[in-house]
Amino acid sequence: IVKALSGYYYVLPENLVQRGESQAEIGKDHNLIQCRGRGILRKNKTSPLVGDRVIYELTENGEGMVDEIMPRSTELIRPPIANVSLAVLVFSLNEPALNLQLLDKFLVHIEHAGLETLICFTKQDLIMSAEDSSAEFVSETSKVYQLYKSMGYNVLTTSALKQEGIEAVLDRLQGVISVFSGQSGVGKSSLLNAMMPSLQLETNIISHKLGRGKHTTRHVELIPLGNGGWVADTPGFSQLDFLQLEAEELSSCFIEFQALSEGCKFRGCLHQNEPDCRVKDALALGTIAASRYEHYIQFLVEIKERKRRY
Ligand code: GDP
Ligand code: ZN
Repeated sequence: IVKALSGYYYVLPENLVQRGESQAEIGKDHNLIQCRGRGILRKNKTSPLVGDRVIYELTENGEGMVDEIMPRSTELIRPPIANVSLAVLVFSLNEPALNLQLLDKFLVHIEHAGLETLICFTKQDLIMSAEDSSAEFVSETSKVYQLYKSMGYNVLTTSALKQEGIEAVLDRLQGVISVFSGQSGVGKSSLLNAMMPSLQLETNIISHKLGRGKHTTRHVELIPLGNGGWVADTPGFSQLDFLQLEAEELSSCFIEFQALSEGCKFRGCLHQNEPDCRVKDALALGTIAASRYEHYIQFLVEIKERKRRY
């Protein structure tokens, strides 16, 4: 299902999905089968989502009925999409300035949702030309790059303006459904435009939508990248509260804490005031970044405050 609108599901037939070439055409309306959901789905309290793989039956008028939904690998609520496997975290190196607390907050939500991550630092061209451009700023930026890379994250740097690093992003998106996340103004739409020049017209609509930040319609659509990859036309993780997260779960969303936690004296150690804590040891040794630990504690406090209030 590549689109859901007013009770209809728009399904791309399997044989078109597999046909590798000329995929710019693939998501076009004339290739899609307009389907209704069979009543049995409602009875089972599962409604189809964009991103679902479904079995459908063609009816006489050329429309279809969705009979069955294949098991989902993931299920996002906002935006409502099934089988998203990758979150592309878009952060500009400058204008707006890099906000590492926000980056870590996104990472927590992505880890909690069980998605893979691609961190994409944009506006590379602005590092050199920035007013405060100095050796210090450049080295600061490369430290940040190294930090997230050393944790095991996939990190890429791009410039949509100079068309740099775009191919590498496209390669990573091949064959998977992804959502783009990040503050408005960081260059999400520009990056999509750079990746899909042939879809310029449609991506302008996307830019509009992505730029609007919070948008309230429930209409979601997947855009074909032309390499078997699909991107949601709505930014992912626009709601970054911690309502769905328990204090005990937070530590496992900081991937470099995971293995260490097992060595902590107390099971369920929150790495705050407990003695014999391997995470705090690592912080003291410098193997965990101070910024990461600081943000962890800030989020932990936020979660605990929420608990106290409700
Ligand atoms: P979005 O809100 O995340 O979709 O961000 P946009 O793609 O709309 O970009 C916001 C602003 O940043 C626009 O004025 C773009 O022209 C600019 N921008 C985007 N990418 C780049 C880039 O690689 N380099 C520079 N210098 N500016 C960029
Ligand atoms: Zn601990």
